[in-house]
Parts: sequence; structure tokens; C-alpha cells
Amino acid sequence: MGKNFYKTLKANVPFVDDLVINEYLDSLGQKLVSQTDKPDNNFKFFILKIPTINAFAGPDAYIGIHTGLILNADNESQLAGVLAHEISHVTQRHLARAMTESSVSPAAMFATMLAGILLSTQNPQAGAAVFYGGSAAMMQSQINFTRHNEHEADRIGIHLLRNAGINPVGMSDFFGKLLKNADSNNILAQMEYLRTHPLNSTRVAEAQNRIETNDKKLPDDSLDFQLSKARIIVTTASSLTELINHIEKLNINQQTIATRYTYAIALTRQGNTEKSITILNQLITSHDHPWFRLDLAKAYETNNQPDKALSVLENLLLLYPNYLPVTIEYARALNQLKQPEKAIQILKQQLKKKEQPVVFQALAQNYYANNQITAALEATSHQYELEGYLQLAAQQIDYALKQTDLESSTRQRLVSRKNNLINKLGKEQSFPN
Ligand SMILES: [Zn+2]
Repeated sequence: MGKNFYKTLKANVPFVDDLVINEYLDSLGQKLVSQTDKPDNNFKFFILKIPTINAFAGPDAYIGIHTGLILNADNESQLAGVLAHEISHVTQRHLARAMTESSVSPAAMFATMLAGILLSTQNPQAGAAVFYGGSAAMMQSQINFTRHNEHEADRIGIHLLRNAGINPVGMSDFFGKLLKNADSNNILAQMEYLRTHPLNSTRVAEAQNRIETNDKKLPDDSLDFQLSKARIIVTTASSLTELINHIEKLNINQQTIATRYTYAIALTRQGNTEKSITILNQLITSHDHPWFRLDLAKAYETNNQPDKALSVLENLLLLYPNYLPVTIEYARALNQLKQPEKAIQILKQQLKKKEQPVVFQALAQNYYANNQITAALEATSHQYELEGYLQLAAQQIDYALKQTDLESSTRQRLVSRKNNLINKLGKEQSFPN
């Protein structure tokens, strides 16, 4: 069920595909998950490019966050507060229990949930209406279980935050902020979060009461959060020119590191790479951070200086071996400079850490560039399998088997892989998930 939910979302809703932000969100999420009593649960965190403020726990520990929520969070602890709350909905089996107790079938419930998310990408008000108008029975069952569940998710979430070493004050702060904005500006349509997670001043006060004195000493922000937010500001900006003009009007002394970073990446995107290279170098001198260097490489590349880009990435890889965003960028740069063999080597190393679709995708590109067609098809087959497209994965193996001059060991491996995929596909069709 979770995989299908995710696949349907992926096919219909714009995702934030920025590896840097996704890796950041995943590490923050996993830090919290590691404090639960089910640390082995396979949580998947992702970001949807939707301007409304919302987060949701879908089936099978798939947790989605809207860009609107990240843009409206002031610091890391506020985002972590929302994540901890969603994680707790999953570990306490709130959704699973609601489905067993409800007369509505799980499939119908998720169809409604999906429809709501899909519609909210176009029109938040219509989305929210569908979300709740889908079925009267479902609505009733939601109201019956929700209040208790919301309190429980807050209570457990605060424990997770504290034990993960994150200031839990952010949770009550963020809820308080949502509630205040909803009252004063009447922008409830922008705040789907309040509809899906009923909130009132009692709940905020209770969350505040759960905070202990020592909690307040825990860190409530990180540079990674502020820089992730900067990247989202740029990718979701309706006009880069306006964004750049806005920053240029600010007094330079009042500009934060994140503002300077926003400025630099917006400049690169607009093609003003020389200016952005200057700013990124200034940032690196004052606060070295791997993302500044990643963007410096990107700026060099956009500025037609691929060799400079490559040497920045080479250095980064030494400092951060197997850090996915660096590996992928480095492999891409090597591919462009016609060095696919070296890229293949580094990508294979990355796979030993974790098998991810994006690594197989990059591997396939480099195999093609190196004229290793069978290996490329096999890599793409692995990519599709991890993404849940078993049929397409098997098809790639069929293509590979049609290659001439296959060594018998390769043929054997391909045939056995094909059989595994067919078996897996058969199981999936008899027990749809
Ligand atoms: Zn909730």
C-alpha cells in the first residue's frame, strides 16, 4: 500500500528532487526514528513542492512534508517537532488502527488522501474540501480517533525530540504559531495542517507543559536547516529577479549566512555566475560548509570552467567520502569530461553504503558513455526495481539478454535476476501492497 501511495504521488505531484535537502531531511528524520521503540521501521521522508503548510503520515511509514511547511518553520526544532509528531502517528499505529475501526476500506481512505494532496497542488481550498468531503463515514471516524491521537503523538514526539538531543520547544512553538496565524489572518485554507491535525490552545499549552527545564538548553537550530530553507526559497521562487532584487535591497550587515547563500544560488540559476562565485568563495572563507563548495562547483560548471568544478568536487569527495550529493555531482562532472570509468568506480563505492535509485541511474549513464550496454541496462533495471517498477525492471533485463556476445556467466546472472523479478512481481500481484 505504501509503495503504491508513494508511486501515485510521485507520478502526479512535483517532488523536491534536490539530493542535498533530501539527505538532510532523511538524516533529521532518522535521528528521531532511532529514538523510537521501532528503530528498524523503514521510514521514508520526502518533500512535495506544495505551498500550503502541511505534513502527513501516509501508509507504511511514508512521511511527506510540503515545502510550505519548511518555509514557514523558523528553525530546525520546529521542523523536527512536526516530524516527531508524524513519526509518532506511525509508531502508535494511529492510521492502521483507524483503518481497522473504520467502515471505509483502506484503499478508499488513501484514494481520498491522495485526491486531497493532488488537488492542493492546484487549489488549496478545493483540496481541503475533497480531503474531508470524500466520505462522511471516514470523516466521522477521523473525528472520533483524532483528538486522543493528536495528544499521544505530541507526547511521544516530545520524548523523541529530547532523546535525539533536539530542543522540543520548537514543537509547541510551531503549533502556537500556526494557531495564531490562523486566528489573525484567517488563512485557514493555507493551513491544511490544522485540518488534518486538529489543534487548539489546550493542545499547545499541554505541549508547553511537557517541556522540562533542561530541554531548553538543547540546540534549536542548525546551519543545515537554514541552508536547506535557502535552497527551497530559490527552487520555489516565482521570480528569481524579484528574489535577487529583494536581497540586494537589504543592508549587507543585516544579511545572514543563509541570505548570502540564497543570493548566490539564485545568481547561479540566473546565469550571473561570476558574482555568485565571488559570494560563495566569501562564504567558504568565513564558514566552510560542504554545500557552499557544491554550489561553487555548480557555478564553475555553469561558467564553462569544468576543470575548476572537477577539482572542487575532488577535494569535497576526499573530505566527505560516500556523501551522496557529492558522489552524484562528481560522477556527473566526470561524465561530462569523458571520464566515465572513474565515475563508475566511485558510484560502485557509493552503492556499498546504500543502494539508491539515483546512484544506479548515474551508473547507467556512465556505463552507456563507456559503451558497456549490458551493464547499463542492468543498472537501470536495479533503479526501476528500487523505485517499485518491477515490470520495467524485468524489461531492461530482456533488452540485456538480447545483446550479442554475452558471456555465459553474464547470461546466467541475467536469467536468474529476471526470474527473481518475475517471482517478486507475481507475489505483488497476488498480495497488492
Ligand atoms: Zn497529528
